Amino acid sequence: MSDEKYNETERPPRPDRGEVPMEGREGDDRIIRGGKGKVFFKKKVCKFCLQKLKIEYKDADVLRRFITERGKILPRRITGTCAKHQRALAAAIKRARVIALLPFVAD
Ligand SMILES: [Zn+2]
Repeated sequence: MSDEKYNETERPPRPDRGEVPMEGREGDDRIIRGGKGKVFFKKKVCKFCLQKLKIEYKDADVLRRFITERGKILPRRITGTCAKHQRALAAAIKRARVIALLPFVAD
């Protein structure tokens, strides 16, 4: 099979043919590029799905693992948290900030 009639990257996804747009995908392998052009594949699994952990805004110690030292919420592509739990996590972190369990900004 060598004849490619159209460019795969330019073709829009066709949900009617069972194709899913890129952003809707979950549980894929993340590509992490190292300093010298080395590419690492790291399988990330959502910690909350795995351990059946409930996201509680009171659990500052749990939430702290998902923010940077400066207090920013880590993106999903770093932590591997699934979309559902990332949403719950972000809400919990924001709630924890309001009641001063977590910092808005730290320096
Ligand atoms: Zn999850």
